[in-house]
Amino acid sequence: MGEHRYQVVITDCDHGSIEEEKKVFGRIGAELVLAQVQQEGDLIRACRGADGLLNQYALLTRRVLESLPKCKVISRYGVGVDPVDLRAATDLGIIVANVPDYCMDEVADQTLSLLLALLRKTAFFDRKVKSGHWDFRSGLPIRRIRGKVLGLVGCGKIGLEVAVRISSFGVRVIAFDPYVEKGPEGIELKDFDSILKESDVISIHCPLNDSTFHLIGEREFEKMAKRPIVLNTSRGPIMDEKALIQALEKGLVSGAGLDVLEKEPPDPGSPLVRMENVIFSPHIGFYSEESISELKRRTAENVLDVLLAKWPRSVVNRDVRRKTRASLST
Ligand code: NAD
Repeated sequence: MGEHRYQVVITDCDHGSIEEEKKVFGRIGAELVLAQVQQEGDLIRACRGADGLLNQYALLTRRVLESLPKCKVISRYGVGVDPVDLRAATDLGIIVANVPDYCMDEVADQTLSLLLALLRKTAFFDRKVKSGHWDFRSGLPIRRIRGKVLGLVGCGKIGLEVAVRISSFGVRVIAFDPYVEKGPEGIELKDFDSILKESDVISIHCPLNDSTFHLIGEREFEKMAKRPIVLNTSRGPIMDEKALIQALEKGLVSGAGLDVLEKEPPDPGSPLVRMENVIFSPHIGFYSEESISELKRRTAENVLDVLLAKWPRSVVNRDVRRKTRASLST
């Protein structure tokens, strides 16, 4: 460890540069090691002397965590912390932190981008013009956006950003969210069935969990009264893909904009791939150069905070408060 007071190890990451992280730890002269390891034994060897870890995919099992006597904090690049054995970390007094909100603007923008491309048939016309067809009639009918109703399923950070953006197009926003009691200004909260019945566009922004798996399936598509466009920039399995294909074939929905799928990438033989009224993006909602810089910086700052005796901005295992290894001020 030499002259460094602290050592921080990046277990693994798939981004090319760690300049952002270096800048953060440069503020306190901590040593930063990029290990790029995945196996238990390699992880233990690489992280044994670490005061904190930055982690992307490498599995931090109980056995690994029990072998890291100095580690006070693990910060995950992103929202989910599934590679970390949370219970083991909590038992050992290790804080697990994440970065839940580095890409809200990007996902909201991606949602709008899919929405506008479907309503104005941008991708469709682009394909037509490039194949030699300059004829606006080929894409008719096209409906006016102003006055339409957008139904949000999930009214959290990203849902709200979508609502703010679409409001300026003169679209009315309604939302279903069982955990939100009062609709933020300009958004009317409704029950789930009303969203299905009243929306011209339905956009999914809830998390994937046991209660949202296939939340939109055959029964729900049948209830969609206005042949809406459906958008999913959240997680593929929230929408039953087979039921979506059937709904598109039957004309129960008029189009789909999908950044996420149950199976990514889609099977080349999937009917979705051939449908003119379905557009995709390859799970890119989170991405911009800026969001990734922010993600790296804030993942590192979670660890820096602990080394500076502060609680990080976003702690996942709050129970650790009672027995954290780190001596923190508040
Ligand atoms: P958030 O936690 O701020 O909001 C999620 C909202 O969903 C909450 O208000 C919650 O109450 C609500 N909710 C929970 N269960 C629900 C249910 N059964 N029905 C309706 N609403 C329900 O999260 P966020 O930052 O807005 O992110 C939303 C989702 O976007 C994430 O869970 C993630 O899956 C997805 N996401 C996708 C990308 C991408 O690259 N496409 C990137 C980041 C996040």
